[in-house]
Amino acid sequence: MKMKTGLLYGIVACSKTRVRCIFCGVFIPKASRCIEQHTNGIRHKENVELMNENGITFIDDALHCKPCNRSLPHEESVMMHIDCEDHSNWMAAMEDLVDGEFITLDAYLCCEKDDVFCEVCNSNIECSLQSIEEHVNHINHRSNITDRLKPLNGIFPVSNDHEVWCKVCDAYIENTVPSILNHIDDDEQHMEWFTIIEDLIENQEISIESYLSSEHEETAYCKKCHMEVLCTAQNISSHVHSEAHLNQFGL
Ligand SMILES: [Zn+2]
Ligand SMILES: [Zn+2]
Ligand SMILES: [Zn+2]
Ligand SMILES: [Zn+2]
Ligand SMILES: [Zn+2]
Repeated sequence: MKMKTGLLYGIVACSKTRVRCIFCGVFIPKASRCIEQHTNGIRHKENVELMNENGITFIDDALHCKPCNRSLPHEESVMMHIDCEDHSNWMAAMEDLVDGEFITLDAYLCCEKDDVFCEVCNSNIECSLQSIEEHVNHINHRSNITDRLKPLNGIFPVSNDHEVWCKVCDAYIENTVPSILNHIDDDEQHMEWFTIIEDLIENQEISIESYLSSEHEETAYCKKCHMEVLCTAQNISSHVHSEAHLNQFGL
C-alpha cells in the first residue's frame, strides 16, 4: 500500500499534459503548482475525508472499496461511488446493525483495521453484514450489552436471583436478558424518566451517572455549582432555573 499523504496522493498519470485526480474525478494540468493547488483545495480534502468514512482506500494508483470488495475504475470518483446503490445500501444496513450495540466501525472505515471491534465483548468481528448480524444476536453479546446497560439505567441486583430492581421506576423486573432489555428499550415509564431528565440536564453540566450506577445515591451532581441536587425532575428543574446556577454560566 502506498503512503497516504503527500502531494501525489490520489493523482495518477494521464497524458503528456494532464494528470487525473481519481478521488475527485477531475483532470489537472501537469504542473506541480496546479497539482498542489488541487490537492490543497477544499473539494479534494473533503473527498479524502469521505474515503476515510466509507472504507475506501488508494492502492496501486486505484481506489479500492473495502465494503464493496472491489477496485473502482478510474472514471468512478469517490462521490460517484458512495452514491451508488450497493455502497449506500451497505452503509445504511451496517449503521442500522451496529446502532446501540457498542460496536465501532471507525477503524474499519478509515482502513486502519480489517475487522470491527465489539466493546462489550472485547472482541474483533469480521466486517460483513452477516457476521455482525450473527454477533449482535448471539446470547453472549446480548448478555454483555445488558451488563453494560444496567449501571447506565439504574438497574440493580436484589437478594433473590430471579429479579432485578429498577431504581428509576422503583419496579422489579424478571432477571433475564430479554426482560431487562425490554424494560430499558420499551417500558414507557422508564423511557419517559430519561426523556425528561436528559432534556433538563442537557448542556447544564449536571451528571446523573453516579445516581444511576450507585444503588443508594439519591442526588445528581452539578459540576458548575459544585453541589448535589436531589435527582428528581422537579428538583433538577428548579436548580437549572435558579439564579445561583444561571449566574455560574456568566462567569
Ligand atoms: Zn482531488
Ligand atoms: Zn463501496
Ligand atoms: Zn459483542
Ligand atoms: Zn425502569
Ligand atoms: Zn448548578
